[in-house]
Amino acid sequence: MIDVVNLTKKYGDLLVLDDISTTINAGEKVVVVGPSGGGKSTFLRCLNVLEDPTAGRIIFEGNDLADLKVEINEQRENIGMVFQQFNLFSNLTVKKNITLAPIKIGVKNMRKVQMKNALVPLYNKCIQHFGHKLNQRVDSKRQALEKEIEQLDTALIPVTEQWEKTKVIKEKEGKSYATYDDKLTKQKLALTSKKEKKVRALSHTLHYEIKSLTPLEFNSKKEVKDRANKRADELLARIGLLDKAEVYPSTLSGGQKQRVAIARALAMNPKVMLFDEPTSALDPEMVGEVLDLIKQVADEGMTMVIVTHEMSFAKDVATRILFMAEGKILEENTPDKFFSEPKHPRLKEFLSKVAE
Ligand code: ADP
Ligand code: MG
Repeated sequence: MIDVVNLTKKYGDLLVLDDISTTINAGEKVVVVGPSGGGKSTFLRCLNVLEDPTAGRIIFEGNDLADLKVEINEQRENIGMVFQQFNLFSNLTVKKNITLAPIKIGVKNMRKVQMKNALVPLYNKCIQHFGHKLNQRVDSKRQALEKEIEQLDTALIPVTEQWEKTKVIKEKEGKSYATYDDKLTKQKLALTSKKEKKVRALSHTLHYEIKSLTPLEFNSKKEVKDRANKRADELLARIGLLDKAEVYPSTLSGGQKQRVAIARALAMNPKVMLFDEPTSALDPEMVGEVLDLIKQVADEGMTMVIVTHEMSFAKDVATRILFMAEGKILEENTPDKFFSEPKHPRLKEFLSKVAE
């Protein structure tokens, strides 16, 4: 599912991730342990495209995340991330925290789907229901707009190519890309937004015409919202906090906040979940409720990468444990062997320090 290939990350001269390679398969629960400052958080942040690797690649389901064609936001939809400090929005209610991303992204995707994929099926449905005659209007509009979009497409390619070429040259010269790319970026963005407007117009025309002709229900913003609200209620019920839906996060305990943060991540139906020390900011009596929830989600088959200092939890939930120190994976093993037969001196030292 995720291939990490020679991943290296530097902050200035500081080498934080040193040529890391590993594969995370679907369904795996990979626990990452290691001393503070060893690069664990940076590793997760790279997986979630919150950091750009200095070198190496991350391939998610066959797509290289460094590829310009991979949309960062789309990638983040696939990955739920839970941070040590919850990172809930304090100005939004608990429920709104959970529905925020699904609604925003749901509406965006709805438009995208309408634009890109739904046109033909919608059109066919239209024909099915009303015969060809009524739809000739739609057809001619569609053709005209599609032609325009095609032209914009051809115009976009040279700009992108030129952009990428300059990027490579500038990077070879050791220059930061962000400082000189303004003109080309603007050009590219202008074209992209122009194209988007055209596509939207096309989608709108079709959507409007078809809607006015047919009693069939199509995806609407309201549907997206209703679905997100329903899902949020299910998740809140699941974490036992349905009665807290309308309160603000500041009124919750740490354990409750973290459970809401997990629910928020689950609301996007991610393919992978990343946890960065999800319990280390909690009072001890709240650790259990959060670990129990993570364990439940793990048992349901979710692929996970979990950074934690909770060794008995690691043993319990992990299919594989990585020991990360000084930016390297110094050792990895099944939970049993990891604890019973540590080989690397740094791991032996680490395990002797963390009392189980
Ligand atoms: P861990 O999560 O294992 O404690 P981190 O990935 O947070 O380790 O940090 C690894 C190293 O990278 C540390 O030395 C830290 O100070 C440094 N570091 C992390 N983020 C940054 C940053 N944004 N800028 C500079 N140095 C950073
Ligand atoms: Mg960390």
